[in-house]
Amino acid sequence: MRMSRYFLPTLKENPSDAQIVSHRLMLRAGMIKQAASGIYSWLPMGFKVLRKLENIVHEEQARAGHIAMLMPTLQSADLWRESGRYDGYGEEMLRIKDRHGRDLLFSPTAEEMITDIFRSHVGSYKDLPLTLYQIQWKFRDEIRPRFGVMRGREFYMKDGYNFDLTKEDALHAYNRHLVSYLRTYERMGLQAIPMRADSGPIGGDYTHEFLVLAETGESEVFYDAAVTDISMGEREIDFDDKAQCQGVLEEFTSLYARTDETHDAAVFAQVPADRQRTARGIEVGQIFYFGTTYSEPLGATVMDETGKPVPVHMGSHGIGVSRLLGAIIEASHDDKGIIWPEGVTPFDVGIVNLKQGDDEADAACEALYKSAIALGLDPIYDDRKERAGAKFASMDLIGIPWRITVGPRGLKNGVVELTSRKTGVSEEMTPELALERLTEIYTGV
Ligand code: ATP
Ligand code: MG
Repeated sequence: MRMSRYFLPTLKENPSDAQIVSHRLMLRAGMIKQAASGIYSWLPMGFKVLRKLENIVHEEQARAGHIAMLMPTLQSADLWRESGRYDGYGEEMLRIKDRHGRDLLFSPTAEEMITDIFRSHVGSYKDLPLTLYQIQWKFRDEIRPRFGVMRGREFYMKDGYNFDLTKEDALHAYNRHLVSYLRTYERMGLQAIPMRADSGPIGGDYTHEFLVLAETGESEVFYDAAVTDISMGEREIDFDDKAQCQGVLEEFTSLYARTDETHDAAVFAQVPADRQRTARGIEVGQIFYFGTTYSEPLGATVMDETGKPVPVHMGSHGIGVSRLLGAIIEASHDDKGIIWPEGVTPFDVGIVNLKQGDDEADAACEALYKSAIALGLDPIYDDRKERAGAKFASMDLIGIPWRITVGPRGLKNGVVELTSRKTGVSEEMTPELALERLTEIYTGV
């Protein structure tokens, strides 16, 4: 992409209405524009990152054997009356009447709809296990939308639902979700710690929230510092291997890590004192096993091996895809702007032409830009007639992890400069070598 032709409405001034850094930076970097309270347009660069996050979620769900589909945002109230949640959901549910006076709602989640699909089409234990998911816009009329996309009213969420014959199978589905979520967040350059959460009125021990540690997080968390040393890394996972998935769950959840809702001071006191941590965190996902809570009232049953109808065991599992943009920026920025992790960056490399209009510099940048594309990289080339300082400031603000700087002085010696956004370290090298380095970095990211 050539900067001169892109739509990147960056702001010089800090927007006064944004309280936290990720919100400020998303506005300043021209990624989002507020349309109404808690509702945003996703401008091209914001949309590009959102799509990258969505792709990572899809890839990791596919790896776990979960199946993508799409349900409507507007749903009939009748289904929610059947489950008993229509009245209980309260003011957060946006209720709509159509021209015939029928009650609709903008889906805040989709347990009812997926259970209805299941009961219409699945009748035998032979069709199980089954896990279906979607990535779809949700609406919750939050009382206090704030922090930009972190607590919106309209937000993009991955919601997945497992259907299993037995509790044991459903717990394997729970574990598969835990493992796939850990992989997903790591690919996004994030550490999200599974913490024991409150299951609310539904009850049961089986729910974990995934929290990214950040000062601006809305949840108070308590944990053993040793949990921050564990990661999935490069390990091979066989998602059909029950023992292996259970092993990962145990490894990641046996150390103390809880939100304030389930925090137990007496248990926490047993963590070695030098490892006790209290901090704040951003909830970027949650997994839940709830057994037959929805399948019973909605009549989602299958015939078991003896021909007897039994309600299926279910769970639901969510990732806050749009909230993740904010969480990633909260975790990765500096005074100058965003620092995108390579796995989610909107562009792989920024090319800065120090002397736009100089024949040699222009030709070198043009050649570099085309070679980068030919190598499969996604460059953004700042070809505007701006001062070098302004170009650097833009690249830093929008957070491109690598920058290649091209200027007449270096070109005399046949070199350009490759700079890391994160460390600020620059190295001179030939344009060919710079592209080779970048190809190596981005292969497999
Ligand atoms: P919260 O406690 O933050 O209100 P929740 O527990 O009600 O969230 P879930 O029903 O668990 O939310 O939804 C799954 C994921 O969707 C959450 O982990 C979060 O990342 C994201 N999410 C929930 N509400 C919002 C919102 N208002 N704006 C953006 N993302 C949200
Ligand atoms: Mg939650």
